[in-house]
Amino acid sequence: MKRGLVIKSTGKLYHVKADDGSMIHCQIKGKLRLKNVVTTNPIAAGDVVEYEPEPNSQGSIVSIVPRKNYIIRKSVNLSKEAQIVAANIDMLFLVVTIARPQTSAGFIDRFLASAEAYEVPASIVFHKMDQYNEKEAAKVEELIGLYTRIGYPCLRTSLVDGRGLEEMKEKMQGGVNLFSGHSGTGKSSLINYFIPGLELKTAEISDWSDKGQHTTTFSELHALPFGGYIADTPGIKGFGLVDIPVEEVHHHFREFFQLLPKCRFANCRHTNEPGCAVREAVATGEVAESRYKSYLSILEDESERSTYR
Ligand code: ZN
Repeated sequence: MKRGLVIKSTGKLYHVKADDGSMIHCQIKGKLRLKNVVTTNPIAAGDVVEYEPEPNSQGSIVSIVPRKNYIIRKSVNLSKEAQIVAANIDMLFLVVTIARPQTSAGFIDRFLASAEAYEVPASIVFHKMDQYNEKEAAKVEELIGLYTRIGYPCLRTSLVDGRGLEEMKEKMQGGVNLFSGHSGTGKSSLINYFIPGLELKTAEISDWSDKGQHTTTFSELHALPFGGYIADTPGIKGFGLVDIPVEEVHHHFREFFQLLPKCRFANCRHTNEPGCAVREAVATGEVAESRYKSYLSILEDESERSTYR
């Protein structure tokens, strides 16, 4: 039995990278059992699998090594089925720009909450740092202060003067990395800097999958020249679309969750309950008002959604 990393799937065939670097074309042998997950695809890019080698660089997958995390996409129809988009992600990079275009605090916070829900580590990349005026640069530093305190690594990057790029390489090296960000933030050119010539399918396909059409495209890992991978996840626009049950939203705001034991009620939602430690912390400035606003906005969206569920 051998182990390998799933680089790509094309329906029933999986491209598995063996430990010696060779590519094995595998199929699934028998039935793979997955616990608690109903998915249309049993294996995704990023999965580590065990396979029986066969002649001509082929093999049969017999089991999946337990995942440390995975990202799913709900089916567009009303069934409860979901597609596993990618597994075992080491880092989610959210590429943001503070102006032209502006990435809102609400978008950043929803992304981070979703990353928490998926149990995937996240970093914020403040990109196009060469373009900001004094006021904008000060805004960046304020946000970096805020998110670093909560525990999210932040980077300052620019392709024009090259700052932060070596640091980013170090963070990506050896792992499976996933990028997200609004169009116009320079996300694609940043990825192209790390893997020259690579054109991710992510951008174009998300446009039409948004209109509700079914897509059968699969994710793929692209090798970084310095070791590690960038995951391309067609059809995934961002991480702002994850359903989080209303009562769990605050679990994904780290600094809120830490304060929960100090709230008078154990089931405090931090909205209008008396003796709420989170609201007190917002009043004293210990918790950022922008974070609290984002929290309330997610809470509202999720309650609305669950009404129609
Ligand atoms: Zn509270």
